[in-house]
Amino acid sequence: MSEALSKVKELSQIPGQKPQGFQVITKIDGLRKKRRNDLLEHKTVGFVPTMGALHQGHVALIRQAAKENHRVYVSIYVNPTQFGVNEDFNSYPRQFAADTLKLDKLAREFCDDSYLGQITTVFSPTTEAMYPNLPPTSEIDGHGSFVTITPLSTTLEGASRPVFFRGVATVCMKLLNIVQPENVYFGQKDIQQSFVIKRMVEDFHLNTKVCVCPTVREPDGLAMSSRNVYLGRRRRSVAIVLLDALKAIQKSFANGERERSNLLAAGLEVTSTVLEQQRKLPPTYRALFEVDYFSIADPKNMTEIDKVFVKNGAIVSGAIKMLPVEDPDKWEDVGLGDGKSAVRLIDNMHLSILTAKLGTPG
Ligand code: AMP
Repeated sequence: MSEALSKVKELSQIPGQKPQGFQVITKIDGLRKKRRNDLLEHKTVGFVPTMGALHQGHVALIRQAAKENHRVYVSIYVNPTQFGVNEDFNSYPRQFAADTLKLDKLAREFCDDSYLGQITTVFSPTTEAMYPNLPPTSEIDGHGSFVTITPLSTTLEGASRPVFFRGVATVCMKLLNIVQPENVYFGQKDIQQSFVIKRMVEDFHLNTKVCVCPTVREPDGLAMSSRNVYLGRRRRSVAIVLLDALKAIQKSFANGERERSNLLAAGLEVTSTVLEQQRKLPPTYRALFEVDYFSIADPKNMTEIDKVFVKNGAIVSGAIKMLPVEDPDKWEDVGLGDGKSAVRLIDNMHLSILTAKLGTPG
């Protein structure tokens, strides 16, 4: 953190490079004071919760918040309770200095009249502050104060990662109680997460509007994610199979297919063909993966459906696990973490009247 602050300070000494002056706040009472001042000045607050390692997906949410609110608050906090015991909490990318520089650049962009607001606050609390009584647990039956949203949190991502949504809902409840924003921004990339948060906000009567922004993608279509840095060259080129499978489902829908089993078969055909091709390659070249799930769900509540009715549409989503890199030579770019860990990727898209009529998958 001090490194980040000194970089921001450094910037202020370069003529024409003055930072736009957001405040980095680590204490909850400091944040509350600032929020109260905004309220007394009749300024609206748009809040973007993140775990940092900011990329263009986060940036899109922050831009949207700056279009719709006077003040933008961004939180950067890697929340331990949403990682399972064997997940990548310790190795999750943390780059606070680079993040604040990115936010500073973005703040300059917001000086333009087309934006209503400005980034004024970066909230980066400690875990001791966020979990004041018991140390945070990743154990399924661990103790603590948790928010659980069921059955939504137990399916799809929740089935593979049993503590994930409990951790997400709990930390978001804490953050929303602290910031009390008018609007909070989430990405469609994590679509089930946005359903969990909407349900939580409704059921607990939180006075915040949940806004969901479209998925931002790399030029080849891969959904941007802080975890993509773990992929490395070989796995990165094969990872696009997930989107290709979703597109195949969308194409099948556009061609008139409505039955769940047939739509899913179109996606699975893509993954099994690519996997077969990869298996034939020598270990030094191939990138293997496992399909975790494909889902076709009701866009109102994310429950699985057997048939898609065009007037309702559907959400098609999927997750794959890129397996560790086999036999890399010492020059190969295997990504952060030496390619030794599996990398889980998720993605989704809507099947809608539009895709059915146009017959052209996006
Ligand atoms: P994270 O830092 O991964 O917890 O993500 C913070 C927010 O950014 C969440 O609301 C995510 O859904 C959103 N987000 C992450 N990746 C993307 C993306 N590629 N496009 C749009 N939003 C995203």
